[in-house]
Amino acid sequence: MIELHVAEHRQASPDKGPPTALMRQYLEVKARYADAILLFRLGDFYEMFYDDAVYVARVLSLTLTSRDKGKEDAVPMCGVPHHAARAYIARLTELGHRVALCEQLEDPKSVKGIVKRDVVRVITPGVIIDDEALDPRRPNFVASVAGDARDGYAVAFADVTTGDFRGTWVQSREALIDELARIEPNELVVVPGQDDLPALVRKAYGRLPQSKIKDPMLTLQQCTSFLSLCLREGFDANAMVKTPPLILAAARVLQYARDTQLSAPLPISRLVVYRREDHLIIDEQARAHLELTATMTGGHRKGSLLDVLDATCSAMGGRLLRRWLLFPLMDVTAIRGRLDAVERLVAHHGVRDEVRRHLGDQCDLERLSSRARLGVATPRDVSVLGRSLRGLPGLAETLGRSAVGLPPENAAADLLNLGEDLQTALAFEIEATLKDEAAAGTKDGGYVKDGVSLELDELRSIARGGRDRIAAIEARERTRTGIPSLKVKFNNVFGYYLEITKTHLANVPADYTRKQTVANAERFITPELAEYEATILSADERRISLELSMFVALRDKVAAAANDLLPLAAKVAMVDVLASLAEQAHRNGYVRPDVNESEIIDLVDCRHPVVEQLAAAGGFVPNDVKLDTQGQQLMLVTGPNMAGKSTLIRQVALSVILAQMGSFVPARTARIGICDRVFTRVGAGDNLARGESTFLVEMRETAHILRNATRKSLVILDEIGRGTSTYDGVSIAWAVAEFLHDQVGARALFATHYHELCALADLHPRVVNVAVTAREWNGEVVFLRKLMPGGASRSFGVEVAKLAGLPDVVVARAQEILQSLQGTHGARSVPLVVDPGGQGGSLPNDPESYAASPPSNVEIQQVIERLREADINELSPRAAWELLDQLRRKLVS
Ligand code: ADP
Ligand code: MG
Repeated sequence: MIELHVAEHRQASPDKGPPTALMRQYLEVKARYADAILLFRLGDFYEMFYDDAVYVARVLSLTLTSRDKGKEDAVPMCGVPHHAARAYIARLTELGHRVALCEQLEDPKSVKGIVKRDVVRVITPGVIIDDEALDPRRPNFVASVAGDARDGYAVAFADVTTGDFRGTWVQSREALIDELARIEPNELVVVPGQDDLPALVRKAYGRLPQSKIKDPMLTLQQCTSFLSLCLREGFDANAMVKTPPLILAAARVLQYARDTQLSAPLPISRLVVYRREDHLIIDEQARAHLELTATMTGGHRKGSLLDVLDATCSAMGGRLLRRWLLFPLMDVTAIRGRLDAVERLVAHHGVRDEVRRHLGDQCDLERLSSRARLGVATPRDVSVLGRSLRGLPGLAETLGRSAVGLPPENAAADLLNLGEDLQTALAFEIEATLKDEAAAGTKDGGYVKDGVSLELDELRSIARGGRDRIAAIEARERTRTGIPSLKVKFNNVFGYYLEITKTHLANVPADYTRKQTVANAERFITPELAEYEATILSADERRISLELSMFVALRDKVAAAANDLLPLAAKVAMVDVLASLAEQAHRNGYVRPDVNESEIIDLVDCRHPVVEQLAAAGGFVPNDVKLDTQGQQLMLVTGPNMAGKSTLIRQVALSVILAQMGSFVPARTARIGICDRVFTRVGAGDNLARGESTFLVEMRETAHILRNATRKSLVILDEIGRGTSTYDGVSIAWAVAEFLHDQVGARALFATHYHELCALADLHPRVVNVAVTAREWNGEVVFLRKLMPGGASRSFGVEVAKLAGLPDVVVARAQEILQSLQGTHGARSVPLVVDPGGQGGSLPNDPESYAASPPSNVEIQQVIERLREADINELSPRAAWELLDQLRRKLVS
């Protein structure tokens, strides 16, 4: 396939100039885009030369050939046909490359010698405008960071396919990294000589492509005036004087995005500045552990909360839902505003269905408006956009009839104005001009309706007349020659011709001129055919260019309206998200949460939204959970393996996130006091990719939580301490729980299979024990999944081993050993830490047998202090181990 293209192209290369002149032109352009792969347009192909060709041929499996083959200075070359280039470009950006698209700027037919060429656009991993190459339900951000310890840190990011341009600032580098994780940019813009921030980011996100700006604006003054100039009212310089890094970061993102589009105007008109504290903070670990947008194993969307939640009808709704999920709110009024709208849409089935039907007719207004603005929208794009606009009045009318208002955060933007003025006029003009099934390209024309332009209709009728004429010639010649199989055909090499099969050659009249012999026939031309051919071709050519100019004028109108269309698109997206939340609340039986300023979380019959989908109908066992900073502040959840501890504690965190994003929650009733952050430390998820040991990562994440949690936070800890020996593990878990209880005061859920920790409840007033229950039945374990007050009595480990299919002899032997251990050492639930003298749990083969004196609270405090102070980012692995060793000694000495 690809070889064929290359072969084809060698004939097709239109340049008449000497090859050296062409290569000189190539090298001149390439020199200006040295950091990009240069796609150099030659006729119907994009060619790559030299190292670009060698590399791209390899990674995209193209055939590597050479220009001026045979000569000693032959240049390596490979190419892709221009109409198939999108897929190849997408692949290159996926690999993290920049691609510079160099086009022919003149019509080769009208030029003698070398055609003028230049780069019209650079496509980079974070600045892709071809939406077919993008996941429609994800944003595609390019981001930049700036800042230092004195001024704080900032991140700004933009999506040129939607015009979304936002930024925020934070106090610490740690918070910056967290925020970047939430934004998930596809590319980071860096400034040469910028401090160590890019290196820091690289450490956290090894794979994020980083791109340099050529001539970055360095001073704050330059950046401020640049932003004011580009964004005008969309940039509030006064509001940003206190955050210089944000101005720098924003200017660089915008400058970079503009550089890639060269002359095309960006669809970006406004910088939205948000404060990190305006949103429930979900750091990288929590987002991953709670599987909000992707599963832990494999990173699939299927099996994530987003997947369960997403019933949006349009791609832009899908993107907004994702944003709501990753940026839940903190403001009770705003949350209730969203919940009000969702509630009305839940209650009014009919309206919801109708709204969703209307939404189903909506295209990706955001990305299409942006494409128009960037001058890359096709006739089909514009036609689809027009159809969407025409659907808006219906949507607005349905919403108006049902009094489903928008949440107060957007109250000013009246949805009922959707179908007015400009949009209506534009929609009408698009409908009047373009065919419904307009083409995706402009090459052959045919997308403009009849009756729009007199001149166009005339050209069409000339071309049609010519074709009719040619059909008539065919009929006439058949009769004249008596050859029934005589056909008039067309090809690009010699236009219209008569084809006559070999059997009838004897009857060919003398006025035919032979042109070509093919396998079974001969081809002839006549002066008459040539004459009509000229008429048709010139009419076609004029028609195509006329259609193009009409289309470009229309597209320019859409582009000019983009600033109005984008906010409109945002409103439609919001309706889509609200209707989707209502739909899923209805389908899955969620309840409206009472979101308030208290420090209570009270869930009755709460479920895990994802796990319940996988369970058989009615198979998920709901549970009640109540947390209260004044009462049951820290809940210790024990129970055997597989009992459902992890599921339980995660579902609480998920309910909080859902409630604060404005969604109903999977419970019978739900009362949720706003949380400022959700922290998790879940499972033995390791981070080997970053070259750190599992336990070190676990401690680092725990340290992060202890350092940052506040009284308003929700902390979910799953089996912490598991990554080390039992005694170390219990001690650390114990100390962490105490710290959360005594110092932080956050609502916390602590799942553990260390039954020893249950003793905490006796010593600390706001610690409660609960257990996810299991029963033994006929020697097998039966999971009841029901939460009971009190600690779990035993762990059922051996029964689970049996369930898992361990050979019977092994299970029986394990049972024996367990009994003998329990006989010697007493019940296993004796709390090790508070009863060290009793030798409660010294396991026979544990070399680190527990020493005589338990750590005092003071010692534990000291350990925690050390943990808090440790700057994990700065520690070498060796130093970290030493620190750990010291800490451990402190606890076990
Ligand atoms: P643990 O953390 O106690 O080892 P998990 O939370 O990982 O247990 O749960 C183990 C499995 O049990 C889950 O994969 C899920 O399929 C099932 N499960 C958990 N909780 C429930 C529940 N409340 N109702 C039904 N099935 C559940
Ligand atoms: Mg678990």
